[in-house]
Amino acid sequence: MLLFFLMSCDKENSPPLEMSMETVHFEINFHDIDAETITALTDELEGNYDRILEDLGLDTVFKTMVYVHNSYDELTQAVDHILPNPPSWLSGIATGRSEMHVLYPGSLTVNFRQVTLHEFAHCASRNLNNNMGSFQKWLFEGVALYEAGQFVQPSTLDYMVNEQPPTLTQLNSQSDTRIYEVGYTLIEFVVDEFGSEAIHDLIVSGGNVSVLGISFGDFQTQWYAFVQERYL
Ligand SMILES: [Zn+2]
Repeated sequence: MLLFFLMSCDKENSPPLEMSMETVHFEINFHDIDAETITALTDELEGNYDRILEDLGLDTVFKTMVYVHNSYDELTQAVDHILPNPPSWLSGIATGRSEMHVLYPGSLTVNFRQVTLHEFAHCASRNLNNNMGSFQKWLFEGVALYEAGQFVQPSTLDYMVNEQPPTLTQLNSQSDTRIYEVGYTLIEFVVDEFGSEAIHDLIVSGGNVSVLGISFGDFQTQWYAFVQERYL
């Protein structure tokens, strides 16, 4: 899938990420990372491209610009115009429907691969619905967590074990980070109960579960029952 590999010779005015590799669906921008690693990263993205688009009911998306940063400071400076007060745990961000930034930890860890797929799933979602003002966080994050395989075992979460699952409203709160723990099972429940095409319908609606013919309350109750039966 490798089309070309180039290195800028413009030393006097070097951009922050001076190297670039382009594949069919992605352009990776980076520096100080060996070609073998970048090739493995593009293989990961290209290898999951069809699956993610099919899950989201998409035929194609805009070519995705991927920026791979070598430090947290470099990452946060690059996205400062979008996220002026980033959390300390930030490891990636989709800044548009065709642009994403990730923090490279020094090797192709499982977590880094998942973060990269997570941010691409955000980009793909935004190709369906780019109205971020009304796109509900539980769905936006849930889809990305599900597509990246970021599963957290519910039996390790006290509030899930103690029958106090978060509501969708709570998960939509910017200060509530539990979506990163339960997001996978929310979308797993959607697919199990309503079929994979429901992901597409939910994204288009921005997270309005009534498009599935179910109320908010019933959705929450049935999701928790699903998790209890499968994992608790
Ligand atoms: Zn996310």
